[in-house]
Amino acid sequence: MRILSDFDGVWTDQAGEAQAIQRAFARDAAPLVGLSGDEAFEQFLSFYRATLAQPAENGWWPRGHLTAFVDEDELLATGAVAHWLDRGEVGDPGALGDAPDRWRQGIRRGGFENVEALANQSFGPAMRKYLESGAHGLVPEAREVVDELRRQGRDLVVVSNSPTPKLAAMFAAIGVQEEGGVRFVGDARKWWIEDPGPTMSVAGRIVHLDRPLYREILLAEEPSLVIGDVASLDLSMGSALRARGELSADMRLLLRCPGEAPAWAREQTEHGPEERLIDAIVPSIRALLEIA
Ligand SMILES: [Mg+2]
Repeated sequence: MRILSDFDGVWTDQAGEAQAIQRAFARDAAPLVGLSGDEAFEQFLSFYRATLAQPAENGWWPRGHLTAFVDEDELLATGAVAHWLDRGEVGDPGALGDAPDRWRQGIRRGGFENVEALANQSFGPAMRKYLESGAHGLVPEAREVVDELRRQGRDLVVVSNSPTPKLAAMFAAIGVQEEGGVRFVGDARKWWIEDPGPTMSVAGRIVHLDRPLYREILLAEEPSLVIGDVASLDLSMGSALRARGELSADMRLLLRCPGEAPAWAREQTEHGPEERLIDAIVPSIRALLEIA
């Protein structure tokens, strides 16, 4: 049996990393928009709330396609806010006043093509700095789960958009190397959408299914189970391949959600296997030990 697992948000909790990245973006923007770091972070949070109020239209837009929704993953917050600012639509001008305009103009005056360019510049160094700070690590149960999966003879392939060295370093920190059924596949580019179609409609959201790079990985690995924390990125392609009979009808799709799962995700589990993105929602990777 082969388990194909996402990394960030499945083997880690993301709140600390996400907030470090959001704070770094606000700190970088602050002098350009004439605010202190704290004031800029407060305004950033008000923009973030505006994007969360319309999740079907906000999120991560690489190559001009909305590949994941802002309310699925805290790590998407800075990119989602940048795209929302660049698009120039103000959800609630009464509350936000001219703040979005001041951000757009200030950041462009600072020499950036748009807000997204600043967000992209901030993201990588902020993530590396957070990792180097030692504050980030795997969830406490990670080692026990890997040991038990090995004992059970399961294959575990960790497939992530994060770079392979990050996965290897973070697993090495708990004494887990790439051996004994464990493999790491980084830079998977699950976000890459080739063509605008096909899509599926999920609770009023358009989910893109032409993800050829992730499709290739899924077809090569033929997992018995896929687990991820972002349904659009981690599970939708597997769901489509299962529905089309290109992957086994028995393959299971699990969403890891440590807190209360959003209503749209819970609703997914009630649909038939041909049309749902998510078979079950689990709070922890411990759920992998209970699979027959
Ligand atoms: Mg993830």
